[in-house]
Amino acid sequence: MNSIGIVGGGIAGLHLGLYLRHHGITCTIYGDQTPEAIAKGRIQNTVAHHNTTLERERQIGIDFWDAARYGYFCHWHYFGFETPLHFRGDFSDPSLSIDYRLLLPRLMEEYLRRGGKLDLGRSFEPADVVRVSERHDLIVVCSGRGSLAKMFPRIDALSPYDRPQRQLCAGFYRGVARSQPVGVYWSVWPGAGEVLELPITWREGPVTAMLFECIPGGPQDVFRDLDYEQNPKEFDQTVLQLFENHYPKTYERINTSEFGLTGPLELLKGAVTPVVREDYIEFGNGKFALALGDAHVVVDPIVGQGANAASYSAFVVGEAIVGDYVYDRLFCERVAHRRAERLQGLAAWVNMTLAPPTQNLIDLVGAMSQNQSICDEFTRNFNAPERQWEILATPERTHAFLRSRLAR
Ligand SMILES: Cc1cc2nc3c(=O)[nH]c(=O)nc-3n(C[C@H](O)[C@H](O)[C@H](O)COP(=O)(O)OP(=O)(O)OC[C@H]3O[C@@H](n4cnc5c(N)ncnc54)[C@H](O)[C@@H]3O)c2cc1C
Repeated sequence: MNSIGIVGGGIAGLHLGLYLRHHGITCTIYGDQTPEAIAKGRIQNTVAHHNTTLERERQIGIDFWDAARYGYFCHWHYFGFETPLHFRGDFSDPSLSIDYRLLLPRLMEEYLRRGGKLDLGRSFEPADVVRVSERHDLIVVCSGRGSLAKMFPRIDALSPYDRPQRQLCAGFYRGVARSQPVGVYWSVWPGAGEVLELPITWREGPVTAMLFECIPGGPQDVFRDLDYEQNPKEFDQTVLQLFENHYPKTYERINTSEFGLTGPLELLKGAVTPVVREDYIEFGNGKFALALGDAHVVVDPIVGQGANAASYSAFVVGEAIVGDYVYDRLFCERVAHRRAERLQGLAAWVNMTLAPPTQNLIDLVGAMSQNQSICDEFTRNFNAPERQWEILATPERTHAFLRSRLAR
């Protein structure tokens, strides 16, 4: 019987483990965090699952929250130019954002119920990965963007940055009314950064997640020195002022007397260096390890894609495991080939979004602000990010795309 060892119990590891259990494959997830620790801990991110991810969850019966009820339906865009641009693109099917402190423990519970093995509570070093490879036919490393990922060499040609392009500050806030229709607000303060306002569900019900994406050293890069626990009022006031001065479409829905962070654990500061790594490595014992999720491709959350890509990749790996009987170099090469287009297209698109805007990106945004069907198509493409790169890879591609859509 095949046996798969999965290192890391985040969304990548759990979606893979649940896919494998759905197909009766024996697997063990080795993780460093118990479900109780995740549930009681700090927010890990502010993730939304788009419809293609939700479809995968439906396919294997792990859709525990109804997207029609808890989800959102559109992307609002606000560009704070001298003459501001404000427009909306609609999804065909809703996206859904559930606090991972609820979602991951629920997935772990389900994985155990379906006969998956969990080995929790210890942080693996590379030597531990090699050691447990003796027990399994294949190892899949999905330990996120921490140091274990360095087992997989970085691909320089696909990793243009050697440092973070944004300082991040994510938090849950009370006192913000939802947009109508309910959607994500993606707002830009040119030269300073962006803010993503996301309708999310946490243990107390609906709340608003704000993710500040701050260009390092720029005027929005104010969070590094702000200590919420030392002075919560100063923190809330600083955030409120950012909205009042630069993000009017969110500010107009804020009740200033209620506004504030929901608590110290609903705050996450940090930064991400985007990296694409090799798909697999071979151990001296003849066994192979595949990289999955952030351990393989990590992108800045500026367009909210990492977890969706991790889930996509988990199912590609799962299908390949189910469809093969030996997990050798040929198997690993096939996996690499199958997921390359989406993951490399995604990384290229996200990395472009972090850079100063190119003329073709400006042209696309201009067209989206004038043409509803182009804007809706761009919004739906959040389900298939390689299509954004097909449109944006070169000025010729962008202009050919716009001509083809405007001729319809
Ligand atoms: C602020 C923010 C907002 C985001 N918003 C979005 C969004 O809207 N949409 C989206 O798709 N993505 C988003 N992302 C990205 C998303 O969170 C990640 O891409 C995704 O969670 C990666 O999943 P993963 O399972 O690969 O890694 P992780 O979630 O990092 O999980 C790795 C797991 O492995 C464990 N682990 C780590 N090291 C070891 C070790 N040495 N031994 C054993 N276990 C280990 C960790 O404890 C963890 O449980 C966001 C990220 C951030 C920071």
